[in-house]
Amino acid sequence: MSRPKRSEFLPSFRHFIGEEEINEVVDTLRSDWITRGPKTQRFEEDFKEYIGCRNAIAVSSCTAALHLSLAAYDIGDGDEVITTPFTFTSTVGVILQQRARPVLADIEGETYNIDPALIEERITDRTKAIMPVHYAGHPCEMDKIIRVARKRGSLVLEDAAHALGAVYKKKRVGTIGDATCFSFYATKNLTTGEGGMLTTEDDEVAEKVRILSLHGISRDAWKRYSISGSWKYEVLLPGYKYNMTDIQASIGLHQMKKFDRMQDRRREIAAIYDESLSHVKEIVIPKAKKNVIHAWHLYPIQIETTALRGGRDRFVKELSKEGVGTSVHFIPIHLHPYYQKAFGFRIGDFPVSEHIFEREVSLPIYPRMTEDDVRRVIEAVVKIIKRLRV
Ligand SMILES: *Cc1c(COP(=O)(O)O)cnc(C)c1O
Repeated sequence: MSRPKRSEFLPSFRHFIGEEEINEVVDTLRSDWITRGPKTQRFEEDFKEYIGCRNAIAVSSCTAALHLSLAAYDIGDGDEVITTPFTFTSTVGVILQQRARPVLADIEGETYNIDPALIEERITDRTKAIMPVHYAGHPCEMDKIIRVARKRGSLVLEDAAHALGAVYKKKRVGTIGDATCFSFYATKNLTTGEGGMLTTEDDEVAEKVRILSLHGISRDAWKRYSISGSWKYEVLLPGYKYNMTDIQASIGLHQMKKFDRMQDRRREIAAIYDESLSHVKEIVIPKAKKNVIHAWHLYPIQIETTALRGGRDRFVKELSKEGVGTSVHFIPIHLHPYYQKAFGFRIGDFPVSEHIFEREVSLPIYPRMTEDDVRRVIEAVVKIIKRLRV
């Protein structure tokens, strides 16, 4: 892997794919089976072992996994699903795909995760599920969320796109709610280019997810074409085409092998940022609660916009001029034109999300960053703060 020189732009994300992944993909391409097959199955087994869950189904994306979780539990027309406005559009999009009604509950200002007290205010007898998002990789208050959900008979379907490797009160994310959905998108902690995984302790739900993910047919295509298989299959449900391929799983198998090492590096970088930026009074650094292991998908800082000329946007632009790429997570759902039009949302509806959004900047945090890269980000941040101070 080539390292960028100091004068080059430091991107907000670079993947950690090496020769092992490349060779495995080539091996798959040279084989007779390139789509869902033995390597996807092996990847599911390795993932299951890592998480310590009963079932893991590999799919084409986290969005697909989230959609399947709703479909497998028959959540649809007229049902309500509570989630956070501080997320990527796909968390809410899949609720609409199922013709259910998204109900948003604002976040709390410490971890930027959905506020369980606000869930309790919004939950009704029509609430079929709660979809918490473990923002940046910090687990939500799952005990409280599950308690609120169980009182009303609602399911807990987790968007763990950021949270592979996260632990909540000694329980790994992926073993807590009714179903958990992970992302292997290019920027996520473990990548297969595009991909996702759904975990659940419920064997029946797992079987239904498996069937729905492959046209609603009764068995894996690759088993049909193997020597022991036959041409026969039955359509049991109106399914989707959401399966993973063996090309993707080839990458995943090796990402899984080095995953703990990758997570250690993320934690190291977070600790260096913590130490170097905690004394800067215009910055609020992210905090991890004592009873969790943070997955550090993002390192989201808040800048004190009233103390800096030009606010967050100017800060981001200046960082970019210094050669440091950043990102902003997230533009709250209710501020997007479609959701405003469809649901009549207005500015002010979810004040905590808006407040954090206006001040948030995600600093680069990924295993390929060198000590020099980390120092460079810190130096640029400190320099720009000094320059923009009012
Ligand atoms: C990335 C992301 C998703 C979507 O993941 P895909 O695998 O790209 O579908 C969903 N939710 C959140 C919070 C994300 O960051």
